[in-house]
Amino acid sequence: MKISRCRNCDAKFLVGRVFCPSCKSDAIEMIDLLEGKVIEIVSLVATPEPFPDNYSIAMIDANGIVLFARTDESLKKGDSVGITEDEFGPICNKI
Ligand SMILES: [Zn+2]
Repeated sequence: MKISRCRNCDAKFLVGRVFCPSCKSDAIEMIDLLEGKVIEIVSLVATPEPFPDNYSIAMIDANGIVLFARTDESLKKGDSVGITEDEFGPICNKI
C-alpha cells in the first residue's frame, strides 16, 4: 500500500498531500507501507455486501502511521503484519 512522505522532513501521511503540513515543502513522494504491528483487533460477524460474513478489522501501527485493515486471519495484539490493499482498502496478513 502506498503512503505520502515528505522528502524534506520525513513526515509520513496516510492521505495523499500536495504539500507537507509540517514544513510546507511540496517535495512529496509516494512510498510503500509494507509492515506494522497489531494494536487492536475486532471480529465482525454481520457485514454489508460485498464483504464476507466473518472477518476482522485490525488497528495497525506502521512506524507511527495508524490505520485499519481487514484480515481473515486469527491475529492478536502485537502480531507483525504485512500490509497490502485491494479495491476496498487495506488488508493485513501475519508475517
Ligand atoms: Zn515536511
